[in-house]
Amino acid sequence: MDFEIRVGLGHDTHRLQRGGPLRLGGINIDFDGHLDGHSDADVLLHAITDAILGAANQGDIGELFPDTDAVNAGKDSAEMLSVANERIRGAGWQIMNLDCVVLAERPKLLPHRASICQRIAEILSINPDQVSLKGKTGERSGDIGQGKVMQSICTCLLRRNK
Ligand SMILES: [Zn+2]
Repeated sequence: MDFEIRVGLGHDTHRLQRGGPLRLGGINIDFDGHLDGHSDADVLLHAITDAILGAANQGDIGELFPDTDAVNAGKDSAEMLSVANERIRGAGWQIMNLDCVVLAERPKLLPHRASICQRIAEILSINPDQVSLKGKTGERSGDIGQGKVMQSICTCLLRRNK
């Protein structure tokens, strides 16, 4: 083979608090809760950032943007994902696809899926059809099912010419 491929995995959790809108996948969703965290707490973009950094073996989001650094407070996660994308592209990697899951009891993801995939593709300069997104509930059990937290998991495939 004249190219190499690498797979990456990202995972993230944030607490859900009262009051919207919900920032998810780089867009604002009309909802009665929002995610809590040091940055804008976009659980999906954080999982994607870690997946692409992991595939390229370039560390993780916490190393790039420490939550102890005041400069990262309230930071737009799209900006963090762009920086990670530039870093892996700089090492010669190109994203083949992302497969993402958002675990949340509410809101329903389906009505927002196309806009989220579009936004993620835009941030990464890839085609929306390279981004897959699925929503899963917690079946009313555990912290996800009781609406206390939202989680996201993402896998990513990278390719680089030798
Ligand atoms: Zn996070």
